[in-house]
Amino acid sequence: MTARNILVINCGSSSIKFALACEAREGFILHGLAERLGEPGAVLAWQQGDLRDSIDLQGAGHEAALAHLLPLVEKALDGPLHAIGHRVVHGGERFTQACRIDAEVLRAIRDTAPLAPLHNPANLLGIDAAMALYPQLPHIAVFDTAFHQSLPPRAYRYAVPEPLYSEQHVRRYGFHGTSHRYVCHRAAEISGLALGDSNWLSAHLGNGSSTCAIANGQSRDTSMGLTPLEGLMMGTRSGDVDPNLHSHLARTLGWSLERIDHMLNHDSGLLGLSGLSNDMRTLEHARDQGHAGAALAIEVFCYRLAKSLAAMTCALPRLDGIIFTGGIGENSPLVRNLTVRHLHVLNLELDGEANARCVRGVEGPIHLAGHPRVLVIPTNEERQIVLDTLAVLG
Ligand code: AMP
Repeated sequence: MTARNILVINCGSSSIKFALACEAREGFILHGLAERLGEPGAVLAWQQGDLRDSIDLQGAGHEAALAHLLPLVEKALDGPLHAIGHRVVHGGERFTQACRIDAEVLRAIRDTAPLAPLHNPANLLGIDAAMALYPQLPHIAVFDTAFHQSLPPRAYRYAVPEPLYSEQHVRRYGFHGTSHRYVCHRAAEISGLALGDSNWLSAHLGNGSSTCAIANGQSRDTSMGLTPLEGLMMGTRSGDVDPNLHSHLARTLGWSLERIDHMLNHDSGLLGLSGLSNDMRTLEHARDQGHAGAALAIEVFCYRLAKSLAAMTCALPRLDGIIFTGGIGENSPLVRNLTVRHLHVLNLELDGEANARCVRGVEGPIHLAGHPRVLVIPTNEERQIVLDTLAVLG
């Protein structure tokens, strides 16, 4: 059989991230990002080998952006395209693994949209546009939530009246599943352990952040819930707050639900607490310059992260290691150091030099010999989507 070529599409509300892979090659043949779609500044940027280029899309939307992008894909290919793998954020309880998209799957993704109103409709835009342009190809959906469908009820149920679960599907779903899955495979691989006989805590720390407890290759608990707002403090998201905050703000300030929603999702987290930025790089720099808000934001971020990791140990029979990934997890020795300091009861201890070295894509262990493993593993969600797409193709 000839090596298969897979295109990965990750469609957001105003962006399309894409990557073209051949199963016989490491890395991507072509990858890039179309952003600010539907706005005057819409642009498509890509990289092929060492070559970087971009074009002005002049306000193009998703379909027009894909129509520009697909000729680039065709040109970069050394043979036919075999399938397109689509990232889908929310698969509800219906999808426990990747699957080929047909009319019924499309309907199910649409039906799940109320649980992810910002994400699933955007994912569907990409699927619809790609299916219109390549109707003859297999299109595969890879769900962020699917990995967490192995959570036991004690981890996924909220303590609210039962009909809210059975009739309204109110439960914890979890997100970032593709990333947590990729890094735990890699962690087992580089540690010489079998995935099916190893136990990990994973911290995916980016603009969105979550922790996950993975026992013998299966997600057993995770910090995000019904929506990606629950759990850790993030770039602009608050993470956990007292659920009565909503009624308190409504009563005392007369705020609407929409305003509270917006505040918790877009004005909170690192940005809200620091009063400066949602970007960890900016905050680290400001902290060094003595900015009190930046220092506090980083401190709260790391303390809450450590608390979440400690809580996640309840889901594991033993701990083989902690994994840091995502833009912050892969690049911030400071965050890793401050977080691990709060976990001394787990006997964790970092090797300062190794911690400093593991940035910008450098993978490796960063713990001191004789202490439990702490690993930095660059995530690669696109690679995992390629692997899942190949697995569905058989
Ligand atoms: P992601 O959503 O995974 O792309 O991660 C974005 C986050 O990673 C932002 O908060 C960035 O500031 C952070 N980040 C990227 N590079 C660095 C770095 N060198 N040091 C600290 N944070 C970083």
